[in-house]
Amino acid sequence: RINSPMIVVSNRLPFILKRNQDGVLERHHSAGGLVTAVAPVVIANRGTWVGWPGIQMNSESEAIPEASADDKSPTSGLKSEQVECVTVAKELFDPYYNGCCNGTFWPLMHSMPDRAVFSAETYDAYRKVNEVFAQRTVMALKKCLAKLDAEGHMDVAPLVWIHDYQLMLAATMVRRACEEEGLRCKMSFFHHIPFPAWDIMRLFPWDDEILEGILGCDLVGFHIDDYCINFLDCCQRRLGCRVDRTRFLLELDGRTIHVKSLPIGIPYDHFAEMGRSAPKILKEKNQKIILGVDRLDYTKGLVNRVKAFERLLEKHPEHVEKVTFFQVAVPSRQDVKEYQQLKEEMDQLIGRINGRFSKPNWSPIRYIFGCISQEQLSAFYRDSAVAIVTPLRDGMNLVAKEFVACQDLSDPGVLMLSPFAGAGGTMQEALIVNPYELDDVAEKMHRALEMPFDERLLRMKHLQRREKLNDVNFWVSSFLQAMGMLPCDLNNNA
Ligand code: UDP
Repeated sequence: RINSPMIVVSNRLPFILKRNQDGVLERHHSAGGLVTAVAPVVIANRGTWVGWPGIQMNSESEAIPEASADDKSPTSGLKSEQVECVTVAKELFDPYYNGCCNGTFWPLMHSMPDRAVFSAETYDAYRKVNEVFAQRTVMALKKCLAKLDAEGHMDVAPLVWIHDYQLMLAATMVRRACEEEGLRCKMSFFHHIPFPAWDIMRLFPWDDEILEGILGCDLVGFHIDDYCINFLDCCQRRLGCRVDRTRFLLELDGRTIHVKSLPIGIPYDHFAEMGRSAPKILKEKNQKIILGVDRLDYTKGLVNRVKAFERLLEKHPEHVEKVTFFQVAVPSRQDVKEYQQLKEEMDQLIGRINGRFSKPNWSPIRYIFGCISQEQLSAFYRDSAVAIVTPLRDGMNLVAKEFVACQDLSDPGVLMLSPFAGAGGTMQEALIVNPYELDDVAEKMHRALEMPFDERLLRMKHLQRREKLNDVNFWVSSFLQAMGMLPCDLNNNA
């Protein structure tokens, strides 16, 4: 019996397409643990990746280039025939992506409904774009089935794995097409961000459609149990589904859907190696760094964090000239107004605090509004005394895990972590801190800076062991195992 081919569906392809000076398309590597872990499975099992290439194509039939000979990235083995490129007109893509995905679902799913814009127009674009993705997925599935059937593997059902909140309607659209055309597959959806409680989800006027959209799958994955429970609750209360809260199962139209928490990990060994080989960060003797690394997003709690650092300097002036808060803020969604306002707020706040506390040879906050490579990040992870990961809400948060992987146990740093990040549930040896409680954040910063070696070592050893065991490869294999245990065809209750 052969392994089932996998069709991965995500908003973005696992590489970026760009045009060179002659207008010819070229592939560019896009970094990320998910791509690194999933691409080899797609390549090895003769699968397909369906997604948007990050560029407007000239036409639907414009050919995807092969990887160049010197491409050593994890996607270099992905042949162009294994890529199904989704093309969407800019007039539709903009309301779908900036409007509905980033303007509605992002704040709603992060339980910040006051920031969410509910618009029938942008949601209609969302429906249409999901339909385009579903159509391309069905095309990929048909090609896949034709190959399997020609080889006599009629008992093998391809796995369709749909990713994230941009594509919550696609599964049901694919299922409908499969039922109409008699196509076999197993379908799963993984939600990479939080899933909110029922009293938040119900604010969205078309919440039933979204829930039913996801329930087109056989398996629905979330990072942590809390999000699974919220989802089960929404399905029960909004759709009247029968729900088994112990085994995380629910029933819709006579089908059983499995809900599972599958916490994502990082490519641990890769980060550990980068941590070992990165050049030393130049810092003055007896100087300590508190490090923050985030996209500039209102969910990340950056304003609270900077204010808490100001309190640290007020309450513990012994840290003045000894500690620098180093914040990397990666520009994100800059065409959305909320994000522009956040940038202005951060610029002003940091300017005020630096003005208030700076000395001739020291400024309290170093702020990079930009993106640095993971190699450079690894050096900062390793050489910082404290990493502060204090989102107001976050699906998982990989920075917390990367920081842990890069630690040198001869002088380990301390992780401060918000309980409102998915990672906060499992990384219990971190200093857990509520980002809304500024005085407590300031006190815990002080405690982290002063923590004795033995305590730092003990905490970090436990954190490292867990993250190494539960790395991103473990996540992919846990997912495949969960899919493998499902019945083989669409009518999974037959
Ligand atoms: N990252 C990076 N360069 C930077 C800042 C961040 O490559 O300058 C990477 C970081 O290594 C991590 C990812 O961006 O893998 C951020 O993931 P996380 O889950 O923490 O947050 P998200 O941005 O997905 O909300």
